[in-house]
Amino acid sequence: MNNNETATVYFPFAGNYYLFHWYTYDNRGHIILAKNEKSLYLIAEKIIDNYAGIQIKDFLKIELVGPSEKLVKLIENKIYEENVQLFLREVRAELYCIEDTQLPKQFMVCDNYSETEEKKLEDDPNHYICDNCFEGIKLKDLTPEEFYHKYKNRWLEVHSDNCNEPKDEEEFLLSFKAEQSKASPARDDEEIYKVIDDFGPHASGLCLEVLKYDDIRTNPVLFYFRKLEELNKNTLEEIKDKYRKITEMKTKKEDEEFNKRGIERHRRIIEKVLKVFSE
Ligand SMILES: [Zn+2]
Repeated sequence: MNNNETATVYFPFAGNYYLFHWYTYDNRGHIILAKNEKSLYLIAEKIIDNYAGIQIKDFLKIELVGPSEKLVKLIENKIYEENVQLFLREVRAELYCIEDTQLPKQFMVCDNYSETEEKKLEDDPNHYICDNCFEGIKLKDLTPEEFYHKYKNRWLEVHSDNCNEPKDEEEFLLSFKAEQSKASPARDDEEIYKVIDDFGPHASGLCLEVLKYDDIRTNPVLFYFRKLEELNKNTLEEIKDKYRKITEMKTKKEDEEFNKRGIERHRRIIEKVLKVFSE
């Protein structure tokens, strides 16, 4: 099994860490990990000083864990099911080049249109939402799983020349390789958290979520962790308050100076005007 087919993480390490999760409207969610509390405070203070309107979301002592046995199994099953469907779609996309009358013997034109009530279309001659086929074509005498096992390797061999060199942006993404976690696996029955990325317009950035076994995603996560302690956010709130007061004082002083300059300018204008018309 390769890393693309199992539960992987972008931060594959083990051990205890101090975690600071912060959010701003412009910059969204971020996470800082430090090996000790003192370092975390130092970094947190710099961040709070730099980002106005910062929200202190979480301040925790955590232990990194690997995915539990149950989670690994669920993710592997889901990836397998996705791969079976993806393979069928990939093949279907190339079957468009072949006349229906010349379809390979493993396929047939769908003769049994079926749709669920909730996704009913008025008219669907191409079977776009037919439950029995992929856009008009279906497997004959083979389940999608059987088809996957029988033909996937052969398909890859024949299509090996399709694998072009990755483009720049793909190379950039590939440089963040997800790996199997080196941390000891969590127990199936304990509460664990995951750090996920939620990027894009109006998205949350990095977020912390309780892991739910009925809502599994197959994409790698940043890491899984066990919460050891909720740390006191008061010190961070005090730091935030201190910087808010400094900023307010600075702004107040700047406003006062601005107003003073305005009054002075105004006074000079009046003085000059009156001087011209005084005789
Ligand atoms: Zn159909």
